[in-house]
This record gives sequence, structure tokens and C-alpha cells, in this order.
Amino acid sequence: MPEVLKAPLVVEFPFTRSLGPVQSAFLTGLRERVVLGVRTTDGRTLVPPVEYDPVTAEEIHDLVEVAPTGTVTTWAWNHAPRRGQPLTTPFAWVLVRLDGADTALLHVLDAPGPDAVRTGLRVRVRWAGERTGAITDIACFEPYDGDPARPGGHSGAFEDPLTGIVAPARLDYTYSPGRAQSAYIDALSARRTVGERCPSCRKVYVPPRGACPTCGVATAEQVEVGPRGTVTTFCIVNIKAKNLDIEVPYVYAHIALDGADLALHARIGGIPYDQVRMGLRVEPVWTEGARHPDHYRPTGEPDAAYETYKELL
Ligand SMILES: [Zn+2]
Repeated sequence: MPEVLKAPLVVEFPFTRSLGPVQSAFLTGLRERVVLGVRTTDGRTLVPPVEYDPVTAEEIHDLVEVAPTGTVTTWAWNHAPRRGQPLTTPFAWVLVRLDGADTALLHVLDAPGPDAVRTGLRVRVRWAGERTGAITDIACFEPYDGDPARPGGHSGAFEDPLTGIVAPARLDYTYSPGRAQSAYIDALSARRTVGERCPSCRKVYVPPRGACPTCGVATAEQVEVGPRGTVTTFCIVNIKAKNLDIEVPYVYAHIALDGADLALHARIGGIPYDQVRMGLRVEPVWTEGARHPDHYRPTGEPDAAYETYKELL
């Protein structure tokens, strides 16, 4: 049995958001080494600030500066920091109630080990050397045994305030396609398309899923299909995708390979987009070094009769 494949996958995109007046002041403040909270009508100071009172839902915008010193209210030790976390050495996640605030801010504490951390520990902000108006402008917190710092009474009005941020979102994981698809991918590297036949209904699934979705039984018998096939349905793509060097418009089609009972999808090339049609006979086009066909092109055969692929739409 071939080895089950696995590969690292990363899904990543920038998330652009605008900042309202409160978040704008908070992040611009961090850039200027000022920590701002917001005062509710009943006199509580919320840090990090929010635009609406979480109890009364009342709109709040009365900004107030708090101290860069505070107290740890709870914590958890992180033995093995992951990529993208605030510190590269082991650290504590902490909730810190800054002096002058009634709520706690989530951040990290640079400490030599978990024995150096406790609820009630006094800490202060360690500012980042370069600040851009982000929560990471606070590089981390550090233990502090001095007096509480006095907030400067900043009003929250700044020159050149931030109006938006771009937050990178990233999901970083290992994907394993499982036994059936691993065999399929292995065969593709030899330019063969191999599906699996259901022992009960005899349908051939390409790509194989390891089980028949109709009968619910495992599939194991390998069956080579194609390489030629028939376009069953298709769509014309008019939007140019970033990072894809394909001229629009182009056609993306469902293709039933000869011998398969499931259509796979691929791009159609070698024919004007407006001449692609249901029943068009196609074959794969491989590029050097690729592990799957780059696209499918017409074979020149007569179109397949609708009766031959109507069950595969
Ligand atoms: Zn079946």
C-alpha cells in the first residue's frame, strides 16, 4: 500500500477593517505610548475600550488615559510559542488590570518561568521600539516592583490618527488526504488517473473518497480511467484571480473521464471560451514537472451523445 501523503497548507489573507472613533484613539494612543480606556456613564473605565457599554448597550466615547502599570488578574503559561505569537521564548498569557482601569486587557508577560508568575503580580508595559498603532506596540508586559505610574490625562485627540488597520489572518495546518486520495495523487505523478470502484454498485469514483457515498461501503479496487473524457457542464470565468496567470475569460468544466462515474473539474484550454459545450471530448495537457494536468483540450473527436453522460451531470 502506498504511503499516506501529508503536506503543510497555509490559508492566508489580509483582513482590512476601519476603526471607529474609540478603536482609532486606542491604537493611535499606543503608537504614542498612551493607553486609553473609555469611561461608562456609571463611572467604570474599560480597557481595552469598547464603543458600547457591555451592560447597558449605551454608546460611550469618553476617553480616559490609564497607567502603563497594572496587576495580573489571571494567567496561563505558554511552554512552546508558535509562529506569529508576541514572543519567541516561553511566556505567560496574562489578563492585566491597568492602574485606573476596571477591566483587564489580554496580553503577554515576559517572565523567566511559570514560578515567576502569579495572580496579583505587579507588571508594567514594555513598549515596542517601533510603533505603528497596533496592539503589538505593547511588546509585552514585564514584572515591576515600583510605584503605580500616574496616567498623563491625555484627551485621546492625536495628530494623524489611524483610521483603519490591516490584520493578517492565517491558518497554518497539516493536511492528509487519506489512503484513497494518496493513491490517486501518487498515480497522477505517473500521469495516470486512478479511481476506486464500489464493490456494491460498481460505480467508479474519481477522485476516490475511500467510500461509496451512495452505498456507504469502503472502496478498495483501483481502476484506471481516462485519460480522455467528456465535458458534462461548465462555466465561464470572468474574474481574474490574484496569483493565477490565466487570461479571462476562461472555462472551468466538469469532466467525466472515460470509465469514471464521477466528474472532476478542470480548466479547458485550446479552444475559444465561447465554443466550449456539453459533450465536448477532451484530453489532459501536462506541463513539465506538474503533478496534475494543467488543463484539458479538445481531442477533435465528435461530441459525446447526451445519453452517455446524462447521469454524470
Ligand atoms: Zn456504491
